[in-house]
Amino acid sequence: MTEPLQGGCACGAVRYRLASAPMFVNCCHCTWCQRETGSAFVINAIIERDRIETAGETVAIDTASESGTGQIVHRCPICLVALWSHYGRRTQVAFVRAGTLDRNDLIQPDAHIFTRSKVPWVRLPEGARAFEVYYDTDREWPAASLERRRRVLARAAPR
Ligand SMILES: [Zn+2]
Ligand SMILES: [Zn+2]
Repeated sequence: MTEPLQGGCACGAVRYRLASAPMFVNCCHCTWCQRETGSAFVINAIIERDRIETAGETVAIDTASESGTGQIVHRCPICLVALWSHYGRRTQVAFVRAGTLDRNDLIQPDAHIFTRSKVPWVRLPEGARAFEVYYDTDREWPAASLERRRRVLARAAPR
């Protein structure tokens, strides 16, 4: 990655910068992500929370999730655009909504998940890794990303 990925909400009150490349990028086609985004899928860039440098405070909203464990969605307090979320209680790891990046062409999905509810008119690229539901992280993530994930989850979950 040549330039750091940065992004923000619609009104500009919250800006962020990713200090590292994402560990992995999921394109999720589940009905929950479709409902939340009002679209066909969401692109989540998965990164350690402490690698997101922010300008402006977010509000944390408890939201239901496909798995039933819930998620905490961080939104701009003014325009309420969702910038990233944490699944379960794992606030060490953030799922950055890649559509909020200034240059979301700089990343692409490593895997497509929940393709069982993919809308039929979305056709995945040739050779894309696709999963009916989810995948085995240990099998699909690169070793360096697994190591980053192991290290960050060993730390206490921040509020
Ligand atoms: Zn805003
Ligand atoms: Zn989803």
